[in-house]
Amino acid sequence: MNALGARIAALIAAQGPLTVAQFMTIALHDPVAGYYATRSPLGAGGDFITAPEIGQMFGELIGLWCVQVWRDQGRPGRTALVELGPGRGTLMADILRAARLAPEFLASLDVILVEASPVLRAMQAERLAGCGVPLRWSERFEEDGRPLLVIANEFFDALPIRQFVRTPRGWCERMVISDADGKLGFALAPRPDPFVSGGDAPPGAVREIAAAAAALVEDVARVIARHRGGMLIVDYGYADGGEGETLQAVRSHAFADALADPGTVDLSAHVDFAALRAAAAAGGAAGHGPIGQGVFLEALGIAARAEMLMRHNRDQAGLIASARDRLVTPAAMGTLFKALAILPPGAPPPPGFPS
Ligand code: SAH
Repeated sequence: MNALGARIAALIAAQGPLTVAQFMTIALHDPVAGYYATRSPLGAGGDFITAPEIGQMFGELIGLWCVQVWRDQGRPGRTALVELGPGRGTLMADILRAARLAPEFLASLDVILVEASPVLRAMQAERLAGCGVPLRWSERFEEDGRPLLVIANEFFDALPIRQFVRTPRGWCERMVISDADGKLGFALAPRPDPFVSGGDAPPGAVREIAAAAAALVEDVARVIARHRGGMLIVDYGYADGGEGETLQAVRSHAFADALADPGTVDLSAHVDFAALRAAAAAGGAAGHGPIGQGVFLEALGIAARAEMLMRHNRDQAGLIASARDRLVTPAAMGTLFKALAILPPGAPPPPGFPS
């Protein structure tokens, strides 16, 4: 057990068990020893790799997606382009490079990077230096009453979830407890939670609720419905609700124990796209999708983009082809990863999504 684990055990001894969401928040964001506070998790030397780190085509196509959504809505004036959880800044760099094809779009932008991690903020600042558009950082999404484009790749899977387990008594919350030696473990709350519904699930079924994710999407949807713009969420997850436990811990590209050494492993959970779409509707906006990342990127023209890159970089043709395949094939990221778009009601359907 490491130092953060000992601190969490002391907290539990003092005030009682933590919800899984509370545990995730501390393990990921403790300012001294939290996972995101202390390291860059991305890339070959890190714990996991994401679509923009696989190939520049991903971010370029999303850049053109932003331009098209903006044009479809009558080129609204000063627009906030917000990225949630920008990682190493790679996706935003690719978006802005592709958007140079539309100088009037670039000229209308203020870019806001919503990032909790000081380590990643520094990498983003370095990566985006000299990009030619005004940049600023924020720790959370804040609306400022103007047209809004929001991009989130592999952000929502990092938000905390609560877990409930079906018992003969009802849905009981899974809690994190600590034994006499300070070793962390899971246990069920003795009493069922009266607000979790779904009486016909078999005993042992697990349901996950991502309240922070839904609240954020509802807030963004409300701004988009009112001031125009759009949101694109790309992440791994399931399309139509469903029970099941999906909390996972990853270290060095392999699964790990979620509780053993808090702050040293990435914690994430599958995104419940149906819940996010419902949150968008609650905010008064229209959800499109989710559709598979592969179908989405194919519809945006990844094949043609990859061919053009291969023609201009013949020595890298193999790498470009394998990046394209990794992004779109069902065996890799093509179907587990999904795209959900959120637009004002009545806006033209977003590029890449069936109308
Ligand atoms: N979008 C990037 C990085 C994904 S990793 C990519 O695709 O490569 C998750 C990102 O979300 C990291 O930048 C992490 O620091 C950030 N993050 C996680 N939880 C956050 C929170 N609660 N608030 C702000 N940023 C958060």
